Amino acid sequence: MKRTGIAAALGSLAAAGLCAPALLPTAHATPQALGTAQARPAAASSCDEPTSTAARVRTGSKVKERNELTLTQVAAMERNFQQRLRRVQASRPVAAKGKLTVRVHVRVIHSGRKGRLSKAVIGKQFAVLNKSFRSAGVGFALADTKYVNNKAWFGDPMTHERSMKTKLHVGKARDLTLYTADLGDDLLGWATFPDEYRRAPKMDGVVVHYGSLPGGPIAKFNRGATATHEIGHWLGLFHTFQDGCAGKGDRVGDTPKEREASSGCPTGRDTCLAPGADPIHNFMNYSDDKCLTHFTKGQATRMKQQWAAYRA
Ligand SMILES: [Zn+2]
Repeated sequence: MKRTGIAAALGSLAAAGLCAPALLPTAHATPQALGTAQARPAAASSCDEPTSTAARVRTGSKVKERNELTLTQVAAMERNFQQRLRRVQASRPVAAKGKLTVRVHVRVIHSGRKGRLSKAVIGKQFAVLNKSFRSAGVGFALADTKYVNNKAWFGDPMTHERSMKTKLHVGKARDLTLYTADLGDDLLGWATFPDEYRRAPKMDGVVVHYGSLPGGPIAKFNRGATATHEIGHWLGLFHTFQDGCAGKGDRVGDTPKEREASSGCPTGRDTCLAPGADPIHNFMNYSDDKCLTHFTKGQATRMKQQWAAYRA
């Protein structure tokens, strides 16, 4: 089902001149899929290095994440960010402290009863979000919930992304539209980055698998951490494994480098010579939901700065 959508997405990535995925990774891999993840460096060889994306996939997934970014692309995004940030800072101080509250417009795409999430489940997801981001000083307020009964959108939101979002996206850069749908057996969610807003405001937002919300049917990934991870991207965070051991990493000083995404909950893993064990508990990694516990101070600062540069 979603394979078509994913194939289309991969096609468009190739068309955009992005790193063509020879091997589809990755993380969140079930134990047996770890072999796949470990085999990944060869696949990345046609690109600069291991790459980053703004999505999250399940363990053993055969799909490449969306928005795959090469080192070069991440570097360009970062240059643009630093430029904009300097411009903003010249006119007003950008506070790393202080609370930021994001208004969230939930769009529950469903097919009859399938995927028709209850208000209680949505409430639990918000509790997870507010707890996960509390130390970072970011809060989430549910603005409204809309139920959309559409079998095609529900079953293949990636293929129908443009029509779905064009119809349902709400608000401006500072408003988050959060969609839930059936993303198939591999993909858990995807997000747009803040710098994409100006180019395509209607496409802004986060899409997560309906089964990833608290109590959902996806084993190991049903505690709501997918929404946390994707919103982290929406607020400008890269994966902790961005750039692998080389390069500039995720542009956050207090997240140790790691060679590749984590899977399961590999306590003590340390894949790079650089100081510090792999940040396997960080929300911007791929460990199982229950293994993901925090953002760092550096990530909190980056989210505030990205907000100031692109969404405020
Ligand atoms: Zn991601």
